[in-house]
This record gives sequence, C-alpha cells and structure tokens, in this order.
Amino acid sequence: MKILFASAEAYPLAKVGGLGDVAGSLPKALKALGHDVRIVLPRYGMISASRKDRAQFSVHLPGGRHEVGLQETRIGDVPVYLIDKPDLYDRPKVYEYEDDGQRFGFFCKAILDFLPVADFWPDVIHSNDWHTALVPVFLRASSEGSERFRRIGTVLTVHNLLHQGLFPRELFDWLGLPGDMWNPEAVEYYGQMNFMKAGIVYADLVNTVSPTYAKEIQTEEFGEGLDGLLRSRAGTLSGILNGIDYDVWNPAKDGLLTQKYSKSTAEKKRANKAGLQKEGNLPRQPKAPLIGFVSRVTTQKGFDILIDALPEILDQGVQFVLLGTGEKRYEDPVSELARNRSDLIVWLKYDEALAHRIYAGSDFFLMPSKFEPCGLGQMISLRYGTIPIVRSTGGLADTVVDLTEHPSRGNGFAFREYTREALLEAVQRAIGFFRAGRGWKAVVQRAMSTDLSWKASARQYVALYAKTHEGLNAPS
Ligand code: ADP
Repeated sequence: MKILFASAEAYPLAKVGGLGDVAGSLPKALKALGHDVRIVLPRYGMISASRKDRAQFSVHLPGGRHEVGLQETRIGDVPVYLIDKPDLYDRPKVYEYEDDGQRFGFFCKAILDFLPVADFWPDVIHSNDWHTALVPVFLRASSEGSERFRRIGTVLTVHNLLHQGLFPRELFDWLGLPGDMWNPEAVEYYGQMNFMKAGIVYADLVNTVSPTYAKEIQTEEFGEGLDGLLRSRAGTLSGILNGIDYDVWNPAKDGLLTQKYSKSTAEKKRANKAGLQKEGNLPRQPKAPLIGFVSRVTTQKGFDILIDALPEILDQGVQFVLLGTGEKRYEDPVSELARNRSDLIVWLKYDEALAHRIYAGSDFFLMPSKFEPCGLGQMISLRYGTIPIVRSTGGLADTVVDLTEHPSRGNGFAFREYTREALLEAVQRAIGFFRAGRGWKAVVQRAMSTDLSWKASARQYVALYAKTHEGLNAPS
C-alpha cells in the first residue's frame, strides 16, 4: 500500500510532543510491514538534516500564485518530503505564530499540489491533528474532476481534541475553499473556521490514539464541543493505541544512561537512580522512593491537583524530579516550592537526554492527567521498569493496570477521581508497595515485559487504510 503520512512534527526532525514521537515511529513500523510510506512536513528553520532539492511547484490561492520548493530527506529508511516556503516555515519553532492558520492551511493545500510533481499517488493520506486536517477537505474540493485524486482515501487521527485550529472567516476565503463548505455541517464552527471539525466531517475515517479516548470524546466532558459531531460519526470512529519507538526507547542500548540494563539485569537501574540523584543534587538515598515527571506543565497533565498534593507527597520521604515547560501559573509555584525543599528538583526546560535519564533513574513515573488521549510517558517508563502512577483516563486506562486491584497482572498504580485526595491515595499505595519490597522486582520485570511496540498498532492502521477503499468503486 502507498501511504502519505502528513504531520506538523516528526521526530527527530521536528518534535514538540507526542505527535512528533508518533510521526517519527509509526511510519517506520509501516515500512517494516512492507508498505511504501512517505512523510510530508514543512521545512522548518530547525531542520538541519541533509536534504536534496527535488522540484519547484506552484500553489494557487485566490490571492495569487505561490512558488514552493520540494525537498527530500529521510527518517531511518522512510523518505520525508519537505515543503519549502521560507516566509511561512523558516522559523525556529514549529507552532505558536500568529499566522499558524495560514501556515498549516497552506501546508494542506501544498500537500495535494506536490503529488503530481513528485508523481507519488498514495492510496491513503493519513492526516494528524488540526494542522493537516484540511487535506481531506481540499481533496474533496478538488477531486471532482480528477480520478487520481478521487481514488485517494483519507484518515484523520485526533491526537488531542483540545487543539482544534480555530481561525476567522477570512482564512477560509484566503484558502479558496468552496463557499458551500462554509456552513455548520462542514467547516464553520460558531462563526469561525475550525480545521479539526472540517477534517472530522470530510475524512473517510477518523481515529484517536487509544480505545478509551475514542469513547470519551463522544461525551460532553471530553468532547471539547465536538462530541455531537463525533457521536454522529461513531460508525467510522475508532481508537488505536500508540506504540513507542523501540530504537529510541531501549534501556539495553540507551547510550544516554549512566548504566544500560535489561529485564534480566534490572537491578542495574540502581546506578541510574544514583546518577539522577547526583545530577539533581538530591541526597544519595537508595531507599527513598524517587518519583519522576516529564511532561508539558499544563492543566491537561494534572497540574492543578499536583501542585496541591506535592508538599504532602514530599513529606512522605519521597524524592521528586520534574522536567517540563508550560504554563507560568504552574511553573512559578512549583519552582517556588523547589527553592524551599531539598527533595524536589525542577528543571523548566526541554531536554531529550535528561528525559531518558529520568525515565531510567526513577522508581515511579507520575501522570495525574485530567485527560490523556494516549500518553507516551507511562509507556516509556514501563519500558524502563519505572512503575507508572496514573489517573485512569484515555490511553492511561488502556495501558496501566492497577496492582492493588490486579496483583497478578498489575503494572502500575491508578486512581479514578480527578482530585488531590485520590492522587495522594494512589501515591501512598505505590510508596507502601515499594517500601514493603516484596514483589517489587517481579513487578519491574512485568512492566518491562509489557508490549508497547508499534507492531500490533501498525497492523491496525493498515486495516484502517484498507477500509477507506471499501466501496470506493461502488455506485454512490
Ligand atoms: P503530549 O503529546 O500531550 O505532550 P505525550 O505523553 O503523548 O504528551 O508525549 C510527550 C513526549 O514529550 C514524551 O516523549 C516525553 O518524554 C516528551 N517530553 C515532554 N516534555 C519534555 C521535556 N521538557 N523534555 C524532554 N522531553 C519531554
């Protein structure tokens, strides 16, 4: 099958969060299954990988013609097309510019316009989140006259429904979409243009990154205003759990660690804990439970309850290391707390290598998320034998089995209510288990045995792609 994977991020070329991890690893897994998969990304300023100029092409918008370069590089053995339009993309960051609507709207149009130039005709274009959600919309708008476009199936994966890409009507006009798409059944959302909604309406199939989140987003609590639309698409909506890239996340081969280790040498984790305590200037106490946290510092990640619970967590003789960046309203109080305590280390930065050392050196990994489409942190920590403590929601509910409820197959600790008390109770259970010592080693090994690879999920994506072609030739 020929697949074009469209994304705003793909590790290691450009990564902001989990979307980057997925776009850097799922295509490799699809390639390993024998498919012709290629990625398309904007050519951002931070992409320094060697690349080749392939072609020049034009993108026509109502305001005029834009000249665009097509470059090519690779992630592993997967070809990556880069859309080179310096005025839009040659900047140091991926997002958070005022013209993000133009940047990603243009990207979606350019994706369809480069296909004839590259002479690559995918069976499926796989869009990811709002940034590439207009691909099925442009495809529908332009496919009437062209059999080649009509034969392309579309899948949209919702990695996070919170971010939908809302922009003023002028953007819709700037992009030249057909006027009849401006209605609440299509692209319009309360007077604004909504990229994610448009993608959900026009993609052949929609999925999210875990079975539980696929159910949750059909409810008012998690639906972010699109639950009605998602319920109406329930028949074409599914959940496929993300995997992690075993080339990147492998404690037996991870050169960033103080000490490599595997399931059979899990006791060597101790050296990583000592290394992390040293790096964080924490007291060298092998027996103090060490909790790690690597994440965006936002409400989604549970910061409102965590800030309230943190002093009490620390008072139980716990050491805590936090790596992340995000909202100032959480960054400030947590840094303030760290200034007054020797058992809390806060690194407010993005640091890939340090993240590896935290995953390996901690005893526990905390994710008290308010909502979590899939979550990669708990999967990476399981792979590193670091026991997750999570709120049971979305992908966390699908990957972490509570040890108190299921002693023989549990791999972590989970709580349900989104409250400080419930979080504290789960942390207490976890610490109690750690201090008791009995069964700890077996649980670490069980965690490390959890299958978190892309193998099964990549197969499910292939089945989804194939489904976009079912009935394609049937009379409409
Ligand atoms: P989300 O995509 O919602 O941010 P995920 O759990 O799906 O959350 O993925 C987050 C990814 O980003 C993980 O690979 C995590 O290790 C990484 N990450 C988050 N914050 C940092 C940071 N400050 N430094 C290094 N890696 C980080």
